[in-house]
Amino acid sequence: MPRLPKWMNDAVETLLASKFLEVKVVAISYPAPAVKKVRFEGYCEAMHYYIGYAVAFRVNALDYRNYTPVMVDDDTFDIVFHLHGKGPGSLFASRLEVGQAIRMLMPRGRKMFRPAAAHFVFGDETSLGLFQAIRQEAGIRQQAFAGLLELDGDNRDAAAMLQLPYIAKENPAAMAAALDTHFAKGAVAGESMYYLTGNARSIQACRKLLRERGVDNGRILTQPYWVEGKRGL
Ligand SMILES: Cc1cc2nc3c(=O)[nH]c(=O)nc-3n(C[C@H](O)[C@H](O)[C@H](O)COP(=O)(O)OP(=O)(O)OC[C@H]3O[C@@H](n4cnc5c(N)ncnc54)[C@H](O)[C@@H]3O)c2cc1C
Repeated sequence: MPRLPKWMNDAVETLLASKFLEVKVVAISYPAPAVKKVRFEGYCEAMHYYIGYAVAFRVNALDYRNYTPVMVDDDTFDIVFHLHGKGPGSLFASRLEVGQAIRMLMPRGRKMFRPAAAHFVFGDETSLGLFQAIRQEAGIRQQAFAGLLELDGDNRDAAAMLQLPYIAKENPAAMAAALDTHFAKGAVAGESMYYLTGNARSIQACRKLLRERGVDNGRILTQPYWVEGKRGL
């Protein structure tokens, strides 16, 4: 999101007050060393939620950052934050504490769930919320769910949480092998939707490998969550 002067961010929050919701942190856990899962409570009925939508927090005077809510029930949702340590969003997330009240920009963005017999998600630590949301929805619809995570070594426990395979980052050979395993297990390219999120460069690599394995462009949805060297997508 664009960096704005403090006075302008203050004005936006006042003028567009109905687009903001106050939420409270009610629980925190760490599925992996640099992965923080935060449960929020608020008047969620006011939100127009769809899988793939992101909320935004004002992480300092000048910046907002996007994060993916996963609905738990009518009043509660989780966000899984990657504490990568390189920006104000990561610092903001690392400082969240139980009992804290925060204003949040309502969910909006790209819908990331399409009708299909099966759903496959690719992403990294930033995508863990989307993995959960799509798995939850596929389960409700009794549709197949699969996925592939790319993780920093220390965060491999996050893959166990989702019971999904993972590969190390920046490893195209491992990505190709994992996709071959996915298809060898019987996945049919023409039946599944493929949702690629996380690092923009990895999304490109994954899309290319899927295309080489016969997946139609129309079955691939992409949403970059971050780009190396770029602030705040
Ligand atoms: C629709 C959408 C949904 C998202 N959902 C989530 C979510 O649920 N959980 C989540 O953790 N993130 C999520 N993100 C990603 C998050 O908004 C970005 O990672 C954001 O850049 C973090 O802001 P920052 O201030 O920490 O770093 P920035 O100030 O934006 O960036 C500083 C530096 O850190 C690098 N960087 C940014 N993110 C990462 C990363 N993950 N790993 C390594 N380097 C990084 C940048 O390339 C830059 O060089 C989402 C993004 C979008 C667009």
